[in-house]
Amino acid sequence: MNKALANMPATIQIDGSQGEGGGQILRTALALSMITGQAFELINIRAGRKKSGLMRQHLVCVQASQHISQAYVEGAELHSQRLYFAPQHVQSGKYQFQIGSAGSTTLVLQTLLPALLLQDGASELTITGGTHNPLAPTADFIEHCFLPTLTKIGIETEFKLNKAGFFPIGAGEIQIKIQPWQHRNKLNLLDRGALQGTEAFAAVLNLSEEAQIAQRELATLNKRLKLDTQQLFHLNGISQGNTVYVKVEHQQHIQLFTALGEMRKSAEQIANRLAEQVKQYIASQAAVDEYLTDQLLLPLALGQGGEFTAQCISEHTHTQASMIEKFIDCEIEFIELNKNLFQVTVKVKEAHS
Ligand code: ATP
Repeated sequence: MNKALANMPATIQIDGSQGEGGGQILRTALALSMITGQAFELINIRAGRKKSGLMRQHLVCVQASQHISQAYVEGAELHSQRLYFAPQHVQSGKYQFQIGSAGSTTLVLQTLLPALLLQDGASELTITGGTHNPLAPTADFIEHCFLPTLTKIGIETEFKLNKAGFFPIGAGEIQIKIQPWQHRNKLNLLDRGALQGTEAFAAVLNLSEEAQIAQRELATLNKRLKLDTQQLFHLNGISQGNTVYVKVEHQQHIQLFTALGEMRKSAEQIANRLAEQVKQYIASQAAVDEYLTDQLLLPLALGQGGEFTAQCISEHTHTQASMIEKFIDCEIEFIELNKNLFQVTVKVKEAHS
């Protein structure tokens, strides 16, 4: 064993091929390691993916975590299949991180947010890279769905999308101010309440206006969903892309559904697929969609816990739950109420206040 490791507490061993074997295992391990001070060794990193090992976004998550917690790290290289991470103490402050590709800025943000929230001082993060990536929360999802839900449990942040970044150029920028988490409330979101409205928003960045992509997406969504409002919005940045999202507001919860334009897919196809997702959600009784479900587990486990109804429990959510239970004394339970309705309960053994 390296000399520097001699005085470290026992290391948590994690196999990155468990569950769906993706990047979330790494990000959650980093977040929880910084919070608990527990070192971990992760092997078989992203073994479940075609290109396994650390990709740029994952590497920046490691480097940024190392930076804010002055961690001792081994294996922080592109394509690395093994990582050892031993944090010291997390320092709040003003930080800037660059992914240097279109890798997702929002996933880096979600890695650092839990540890920074739990410090005495406020922090400010600026992260450059991709802001609208497939298979990750878009900046709009973070701003209008993830962070507003966190305010219910007492988490206070201010988020800004300074520049949008689409694949392959990226060059987007997000900025967030994070206040120390003072009043940790339990989440009670079993009942979403009555439907208040459905709104759609669409934007293009550096694409020809002639194709009327955003306008066509809104028209299709309106036909399928009978929207209350529809709006074009403006994005800055040097990359090219298109995004559209639908905000479904119930009395107790605002849920967002997002889509990105794709080569060789018409605006109508993109909007139809999005409309389908929204329709399924509205037809269910659930408060929270598949993606927000996995994203809420960690903040709840760090606070007072809570319960909510979910539309679906993905493999990703199961993997996330078992990672959290490895580091924190809590119980995460999923009960199937019917085909599209699950109850998620996060029970914290020693409620933090
Ligand atoms: P890998 O490349 O190994 O798949 P990754 O680092 O890209 O890993 P995942 O492990 O798949 O990412 O995690 C993706 C995260 O993005 C999850 O938390 C998921 O909820 C979120 N996510 C994916 N799609 C959406 C979406 N459409 N809306 C909101 N969040 C999303």
